[in-house]
Amino acid sequence: MPIFSPRRYQPPFYPYSREDESFGMRAFTVFEQALKGVFFGCRMCGNCILQETAFICPMTCPKGLRNWLCGGATPEACEVDPSRPCTWYKIYERAEKMGRTEKLLEINAPMDGTRVGRETWLDVYHHWRERGGPNPLDLIRDREKFNQEYEALFYDVRQPDWWQGDAKYHPPQYDEPISLLEANLRTGTFTTSAEIAPPLTASKELLLKKVGWLKDYVVAANFTDNASASPRMNSMASSKICLDAGMEPIMQLQARDRSRVVIESDAMGAAGLGIPNILCLTGDHQRFGPGPMIKPDQFDMDAVQVLWMLRRMRDEGVYLDGRNIKERPSFFLGAAASPFGAPPKYEAIRAEKKINAGAQFIQTQPVYDYDQFTDWLEALDKRNLLDKVYIMAGLIPLKSARAAHFMAEEVPGVVIPSEMVKRMDDAGDKDGQSEEGVAIALELIEKLKNTPGLNGMHMMAVHWEAIVPRLIEESGLPRPVVKELPRVAEEAEPVAEKVPAPVSVSSM
Ligand code: SF4
Repeated sequence: MPIFSPRRYQPPFYPYSREDESFGMRAFTVFEQALKGVFFGCRMCGNCILQETAFICPMTCPKGLRNWLCGGATPEACEVDPSRPCTWYKIYERAEKMGRTEKLLEINAPMDGTRVGRETWLDVYHHWRERGGPNPLDLIRDREKFNQEYEALFYDVRQPDWWQGDAKYHPPQYDEPISLLEANLRTGTFTTSAEIAPPLTASKELLLKKVGWLKDYVVAANFTDNASASPRMNSMASSKICLDAGMEPIMQLQARDRSRVVIESDAMGAAGLGIPNILCLTGDHQRFGPGPMIKPDQFDMDAVQVLWMLRRMRDEGVYLDGRNIKERPSFFLGAAASPFGAPPKYEAIRAEKKINAGAQFIQTQPVYDYDQFTDWLEALDKRNLLDKVYIMAGLIPLKSARAAHFMAEEVPGVVIPSEMVKRMDDAGDKDGQSEEGVAIALELIEKLKNTPGLNGMHMMAVHWEAIVPRLIEESGLPRPVVKELPRVAEEAEPVAEKVPAPVSVSSM
């Protein structure tokens, strides 16, 4: 059992099969377990990536993240288990000290269940025997050769054939835009999307009403996927209702609560339904849900791994298990980013990893602190990322002083300058506060729409969607310029569901 490794949330991964193991092998496994537990906090996941994580076991992260820190991480504590530090902050800090930051870019595989609980040192030894290197004498004779062979050996060990993750950018392998969102972004016009909360009920009336408000103003609508571990109508059903109502959806697809099999299946189902945009997320930990809390270990993959897997389904036509896909799915793939989470230099690595894995557009957490946001953009620019991805800045208009305090004080990864909160406090009654919230939003839009490197905005006026048309009209944000994809225009007229007319701007 890992001696210094926290025991909550992620279990130690004990061997579940011993049929093929001799007494000697079991004794060796216990020996490895004891040593790696003491030195690295190892939990015996059997899929060791310690070389890539500055020799800190990532499986001590309550979400079991194997590629990066989550959006709610802080330097002080883990967002899920505040009694302990964030594993990934420790990894970033140690990697920086050891000069191994670039190693954090390799896209690590999800766990292979057949390896769980097993030793890994003998595995390295067997690989070394099979490859015939590196030769220890080269440490003296030819250090460079030794280092190359050493790297290649460990790459073989940690990257299974069914994954082959790397640290390279993989541009999309198609020419024509897959979605209206992509087509509009490609024109270079500042492009706006909006978020709609899926209904809590089985009725689609409210959803259709919101689609009616937004469809002439924004290019596409996001549907959250049980955000905050709180159940609602699912994202795929909401997206299909939106699509049938004549507006393009962005289906959020989170890793929480889904195995890799279900993620592949849901993504394929979405493509089959004609949902062209998928925003890949890791998902909030189930601890933040209304409860009772489901069993803690609910993350088979993270967002980077989901992006990697879906991009390969689309561009290489393979499922994770290697089966070929005859008719490949079309996805325009997106990811979320948190410019106000970790320091920009760390967040830029996180963004690069998502872009390399397959993210073509990024929607950010809400922006209130413009200067900090541009620091993040600059960090992305330094890593030459801005010409590889479309960035859409998040915006949540503040409806009340209470909402401003909640966002500023309770929501990890959101920074609201104190003078902005004070403006909301001083704005008088309910109407005065919402008007002040609109004024702040318009000031932010004015700055954001003129920001180099930024391609659009994503408005998250959840439960206040009716304000979005007013914000777009008063700020002068462009409406979508491409309204139909060429190949769709060639097909027969789609049967659009009747949607309620947009509310008039003056009635909001
Ligand atoms: S803050 Fe997030 S990334 Fe860090 S240890 Fe906790 S769950 Fe893992």
